[in-house]
Amino acid sequence: MMPYFSDNFFNPSANYDASYEIRDVINNSRMVIANTISCKPDEIYFTSCGSESDNWALSYVKPGQHIITSLIEHHAIINTCKKLELCGVEVTYLPVDQYGRIDLDELKSAIQSNTVLISVMAANNEIGVIQSIDEIGSVAHQHGILFHTDAVQYYGHYNINVNNSCIDMMSVSGHKFNGPKGIGFLYINNRVNISPFINGGGQQFGKRAGTENVPGIVGIAKAAKIAYSKDVISQHAHIDDMRNYLLNKIMNNISDCHLNGHPELRLFNNINVSFDGIRGEQLIVLLSMYGICASTGSACSSSSNEPSHVLKAIGLSDDGANSSIRFTLSNYNTFDELDYVVDVLKQCVADLRSVK
Ligand code: PLP
Repeated sequence: MMPYFSDNFFNPSANYDASYEIRDVINNSRMVIANTISCKPDEIYFTSCGSESDNWALSYVKPGQHIITSLIEHHAIINTCKKLELCGVEVTYLPVDQYGRIDLDELKSAIQSNTVLISVMAANNEIGVIQSIDEIGSVAHQHGILFHTDAVQYYGHYNINVNNSCIDMMSVSGHKFNGPKGIGFLYINNRVNISPFINGGGQQFGKRAGTENVPGIVGIAKAAKIAYSKDVISQHAHIDDMRNYLLNKIMNNISDCHLNGHPELRLFNNINVSFDGIRGEQLIVLLSMYGICASTGSACSSSSNEPSHVLKAIGLSDDGANSSIRFTLSNYNTFDELDYVVDVLKQCVADLRSVK
């Protein structure tokens, strides 16, 4: 990324030689990303983040039309749907089971004659639950409806073929797979007739105006290349082992705690646990004093005092939801760190439970 902040800072839309090179760099980045999901390069639109991608995808739905989504989507989807409702769009928020999975029969029954889009996330950011996107996409296409998936937590970690999964639009964010912040993309199948989300110049095939974030584009493409350079599933093994080790150790060492989300159909790096009788946000503050970074709910909405809408949707009470915290692991964690986490966690939970 560094040269594109300095020596190669030329505007890709200009008409001097140096800018042609930058245009090539952007086109090459687009090609690298397109190869990772088996689409065409001109179906990749760079955005500023996953939220922008989600907002843009949902802008497809117009007043009088109907969209189906789920109760556990990220706020970038939920809040956009709420706004669309104010403009006369009909929205169905599908419930989920105790693990966070939507039911395909309920999805089919929710379809109306004016349904134009189904938007269901590939994997949830709080409880890590993975949805059957192939099946959801195929239901959508059987009914002539477009399928959008928020793959912000999924892309870069799992294989995706947009054709096999009947995905028409897909949101991705760079910083979820070791890329930079401030860059994401929206895959839009060429068949989808969607208006530009940002109007202005003719950048990005006239669909997403604004001078491109060249270092960000180079960075997200490099991160994608690294993420998909090997068999992605085999890269999970180490993190998966650490995640299971951490979970078992928490369960065996700390009383009255419960795993939230699906035991198997979940992101390989995610643990979400409720500790009865304590408040998650207090536990986070204590852990932070020991150098441990964990989250309540979604990292993007941790400042909110509302109990997590995801944990409520899987049936937790307000108290249950407020007693939950989430750990997300990466390749860079070690087993020694996990031993330290459990030692500190045990002490912090005991301390908080003793203060009544
Ligand atoms: N969707 C999901 C599932 C997410 O987890 C996030 C961020 O955590 C977003 C969307 C928003 O992405 P960004 O922070 O890049 O806007």
